Amino acid sequence: MDVETFRRYAHELVDWMADYARNVEDLPVLAKVSPGDILSRLAPSPPEQGEPFERIMADFDSIIMPGMTHWQSPNYFAYFNANNSFPSILAEMLTATLGAQCMSWITSPAATELEERVMEWLRDMIGLPREFVGVIQDSASTATLCSLLTAREKASGHAINRHGYSGERFTVYCSREAHSSIEKDVRIAGIGSQRLRRIALDNNYAMDPSALDAAVRRDMEEGYHPLAVVAALGTTGSTAIDPLDTIAAVCRRYGLWLHVDAAYAGTALVLPSMRWMLKGIEAVDSFVFNPHKWMFTNFDCSAYFVRDADALVNTFTLLPEYLKTRVDGSVKNYRDWGIQLGRRFRALKLWFVIREFGVQGLREAVSNHIRWAGEVADLIRPEPDFELMAPTPLATVCFRYHPEGVNDSSELEQLNQRLMDELNASGKIFLTHTRLDGKLTLRLVVGQTRQERRHVTAAWDAIRRTARKPAHS
Ligand SMILES: *Cc1c(COP(=O)(O)O)cnc(C)c1O
Repeated sequence: MDVETFRRYAHELVDWMADYARNVEDLPVLAKVSPGDILSRLAPSPPEQGEPFERIMADFDSIIMPGMTHWQSPNYFAYFNANNSFPSILAEMLTATLGAQCMSWITSPAATELEERVMEWLRDMIGLPREFVGVIQDSASTATLCSLLTAREKASGHAINRHGYSGERFTVYCSREAHSSIEKDVRIAGIGSQRLRRIALDNNYAMDPSALDAAVRRDMEEGYHPLAVVAALGTTGSTAIDPLDTIAAVCRRYGLWLHVDAAYAGTALVLPSMRWMLKGIEAVDSFVFNPHKWMFTNFDCSAYFVRDADALVNTFTLLPEYLKTRVDGSVKNYRDWGIQLGRRFRALKLWFVIREFGVQGLREAVSNHIRWAGEVADLIRPEPDFELMAPTPLATVCFRYHPEGVNDSSELEQLNQRLMDELNASGKIFLTHTRLDGKLTLRLVVGQTRQERRHVTAAWDAIRRTARKPAHS
């Protein structure tokens, strides 16, 4: 492809992109395909000769698009959002075009220094203390792994990095509702799933700090080495907020590392009214949240903040001859701030998003989402045949259909499973479930970038109407 042909197709694709953004709300949110449908339509072997771009694009439209689930539909209410936005998309176009590897300062000084600056912006925007220093990671899973590895190396005097484990019996603590990535990270860090203590919950599905205290004490008595606590601000199931200040007190008492997983909820901290969640932050060692969830920035972009940058860098730094530069002593080389060597230029999209929205624009968007979710919760509360399953501190509503007289748990489960399946099959909305206290719970996550109040209202109408259709009662 020569440059003029590229120019022509790039212009065509920009039109495709704008049309998609305009029409996406009319597409079925969840792809209507069965396992293997797409695979069966893909050529079993690669073409020997290059193909014209028209043909590739035609196949994209006819084979790929029908198999896409539309995360950027305003009718998307599943999992958590993976929002993009127009400024973010535009930045990604530039990032793709520049194709720079941003592993060292010298491999793109602007990428490093922009990352430094936008992470300072972000830290101040969400009210983290100024001692925190940030770095962009690919995901919260990776950031939490970095945190646990840093805690491990700090506790072992870097012995485990050098010669592996020699009988350390570390234990890590999180709530029963903590994200599965914590367990994955504990495994990868060599600590072992069985040494991850899943702490009991309070009535709001948040960690019970007195149960944490008891678990740490028991482990110490039994000769374990309690290493770290991962507290969740906004659990994935129900967005429960672990009480940071009392957890921090336990960590201080026993000298534990404290990491905060605010993957989803961190964005809400742009609102000063939500900063109560940060009470206790003075004792936190590391903190992660995902602008790629709720902050309108394309996946991947996970903001990882640490109090002790040296401890992080000492965990990961290696300096082979071929990476040495004359400026290593005076610059940040972000390859030393995590697992990957090669890094995308991810700061650019964040910079575009923050500047195009403005802090005030971000606040407005997020507070709308929280308000609309609260309105749905207020509508559900008085309904005789629906029940709220958890508090709604953010923009995720947990509920189930519970008609009067139906009290058998497996019947309720089937009713709600069928309700969700039917809604998702309709293509009008897409929502997913969790289990709270063993009960199947539907989750309505408000907060897609171009969602308006009408989409949220329509979603609740669809849920109510579908549930009350004769087949469901
Ligand atoms: C989404 C989520 C994660 C995982 O995020 P990734 O960036 O996909 O690794 C971790 N913790 C919580 C609380 C989450 O909601």
